[in-house]
Amino acid sequence: MTNYYQKEIETIPREELEALQSERLVQQVKHVYENVKFYRDRMIEAGVSPSDINGIQDLHKLPFITKDDLKDQYPYGLLGVPLKDCVRIQSTSGTTGKRVVAFYTQGDLDIWDECCARAIMAAGGTKKDVVHVCYGYGLFTGGPGLNGGSHKVGSLTLPMSSGNTDRQLQFMTDLGSTILCCTPSYAFSLAESIEERGLKGKIKLKAGIFGAEPWTEEMRKDIEELLGIKAYDIYGLTEISGPGVAFECEAQAGMHIQEDHFIPEIINPKTGEVLPAGEVGELVFTCLTKKAFPLLRYRTRDLCKLTYEPCKCGRTHVRMRKPMGRSDDMLIVKGVNVFPSQIETVLINQGYRANYQIIVDRINNRDTIEVHVEMTPEMAADPNTYKEACEAKIAKGLLAMLGIKVNVKVLKPKTITRSEGKAKRVIDKRNLYTQQ
Ligand code: ADP
Ligand code: ZN
Repeated sequence: MTNYYQKEIETIPREELEALQSERLVQQVKHVYENVKFYRDRMIEAGVSPSDINGIQDLHKLPFITKDDLKDQYPYGLLGVPLKDCVRIQSTSGTTGKRVVAFYTQGDLDIWDECCARAIMAAGGTKKDVVHVCYGYGLFTGGPGLNGGSHKVGSLTLPMSSGNTDRQLQFMTDLGSTILCCTPSYAFSLAESIEERGLKGKIKLKAGIFGAEPWTEEMRKDIEELLGIKAYDIYGLTEISGPGVAFECEAQAGMHIQEDHFIPEIINPKTGEVLPAGEVGELVFTCLTKKAFPLLRYRTRDLCKLTYEPCKCGRTHVRMRKPMGRSDDMLIVKGVNVFPSQIETVLINQGYRANYQIIVDRINNRDTIEVHVEMTPEMAADPNTYKEACEAKIAKGLLAMLGIKVNVKVLKPKTITRSEGKAKRVIDKRNLYTQQ
């Protein structure tokens, strides 16, 4: 049975949804035009006035906003309400080197919490669940978002934050956590510790809600198997609110974007042209209801595609495919586009776990790429494992996947540092771009 938090809006017929979006968009454009000088200037520059925006069909007339605009407007330039009406600040984790601060009114926080509540219920959560949140708390949105969602559902919330694996496992076993919320890389690290300590029989987990970083289907299977749970994906970004902008339902076939609050578009990142559904491009969001930090046509740099096909779960909101990486995550090595997720797929398909690092360098003006991956404990214990043979096999798989030669080093178990938040998989020593 499908579990909804707000069934009426989650299963609203698309015509009604679009009418609601149009009404909200018209209001939101007026709001930003009247209250944010940045938007007023940009719209005047683009020759668009609020009277030109009569519904979602006019969305394309508005100019885009980029991460650089947010940086230029730091900290208060995009505030849509007086500072005294804001009750919270959150900030990005700074993965791409540029921090962004986002402001929330109490109303904005309520919307965000509701979005996370929908995600928790879609993963089977109820009032009877014990929701174990080990996303980081503080400025990072992961902890506060899922915490707020869990409260709305009425579940017992464990605000663990990240790190201290011993304490995580103690609470998980003593208090019978049933839903685990954290980054997939930390879920994986917890799963390994549970296996090592023989605790699998003592945990009551049934589901996990994992996001904040890219992860592959192969990694999902590994986590599901190791923990004996169903692993759900959740997507979000601080600029748009935080986790819960989109979430997976039990069909696990893409994440439903919460379209009553956020309109997605897919654009060609080079030309800005809006692409038809089904094509891969950069995801752009327009916030319809947020008042304090209302971003319109914000370019996320995340690459993915949308599908408007009806979903088995009955939700009518569009689904986005798992982002394959950010446009700024993509490595260009020897002139070839390389996404870390492609490397992960090859490794996991050959029986390794997601304990790897990619090291890129430039030696004598030539790019080099090296992949370090740990053997699993079983491989290390098997006298028939030959490191060189493993390395050659991985290199062959990577050549087939990427079309370039990769140096591979297979390491002993536990030699690569485990991550408690977002994993740092890529070390690019080339310094081609100066970090800001
Ligand atoms: P930062 O940009 O510093 O990492 P955030 O913590 O707000 O800031 O992270 C948002 C970004 O994290 C998204 O734009 C996206 O690239 C990535 N992300 C979030 N959830 C997922 C997910 N489920 N799958 C892949 N990437 C994700
Ligand atoms: Zn669905």
